[in-house]
Amino acid sequence: MDRAIIHVDMDAFFASIEQRDNPSLIGKPVIVGGISDRGVVCTASYEARRYGVHSAMAGKIARRLCPQGIYLPVNMKKYKEVSKEIYKIFKRYSDVIEPVSIDEAFIDVTGQDPLSVAKTIKKDIRDELRLTASIGISINKFLAKLASDIEKPDGLTIIRKEEIIDFLRPLPVNKIWGVGPRMERELNKLGIYYIGDIQAYDVDVLISLFGKRGRELYDFSYGIDLRPVENHVINQSLGEEETFEEDIEDMDFLIHKLKTFSFNLSNKLISKDSLIKTITVKIKYSDFRVETRSMTLNIPTNDPDTIFNVSKGILLTKFNINKSIRLIGITLSNLIYPEEPFQLSMKL
Ligand SMILES: [Mg+2]
Repeated sequence: MDRAIIHVDMDAFFASIEQRDNPSLIGKPVIVGGISDRGVVCTASYEARRYGVHSAMAGKIARRLCPQGIYLPVNMKKYKEVSKEIYKIFKRYSDVIEPVSIDEAFIDVTGQDPLSVAKTIKKDIRDELRLTASIGISINKFLAKLASDIEKPDGLTIIRKEEIIDFLRPLPVNKIWGVGPRMERELNKLGIYYIGDIQAYDVDVLISLFGKRGRELYDFSYGIDLRPVENHVINQSLGEEETFEEDIEDMDFLIHKLKTFSFNLSNKLISKDSLIKTITVKIKYSDFRVETRSMTLNIPTNDPDTIFNVSKGILLTKFNINKSIRLIGITLSNLIYPEEPFQLSMKL
């Protein structure tokens, strides 16, 4: 039997809650976060998005694009409360729920009519919480997530089995799960720009070029994704690391790497509406010995400068480096939100 997977994504979650709770904000460009110049936007209302403001944008840039915007502090306690209520609604319709972030989840409703469950969930959220969600439905997580993104806000999109290949064909390759800018560049070099280009590519060549990842790309291009909806925490961390072509002794170079990682990781956290408390720096020496050092913060963060300054501090004070280095990386753990009853599952 085919699976029936629903992906629910709340619309402009933080901003919508603020508009709901203060009707004078309805119809106005509301921006949550980004109050200080160094802070970043967490959520922009749809009105603010028309000015080009989006999440993860520096507050300074947002204010330049939308000076008339209403900039509000992040009231995470309130958003968490709302998130709990949303997850309670999900629970009515399935026990198999995988939280992706504070406002986003997969729900396995195999054996039920997914369209009617999705409509009911949307109605419950609207009636009980006065908020809107966009929902995607398909036979797996990859397609359900693509579907939820098609018609936002307040969308409901189903990708049926017989439509999958035609649906995927015209989409850019970066719509495939896990294809970031680097992979996209690699694929572009091969003349692959659209998912249809992967469908038409020789799978053996993809495997010889990218190994296991090549097989995955090919499978995704045909909408094959066997990953289950998992309602427990699998891996509560995310990180970035780089192995160098040549061993490195230059501290400034390593610090520069930490800066790049910090900014990339901060963007990932912001896009997931998440914060972290623990920062770990990992080093592999030229003799392949691995050392890690961590620091746990009192206040959870997703701020790029904080992540950078802490990881730089760890590198400079907690290691005793007397050899050249072949790898450096940062891992962020202790991800926060949503709290009970579901913990955040983060697999990036
Ligand atoms: Mg959302």
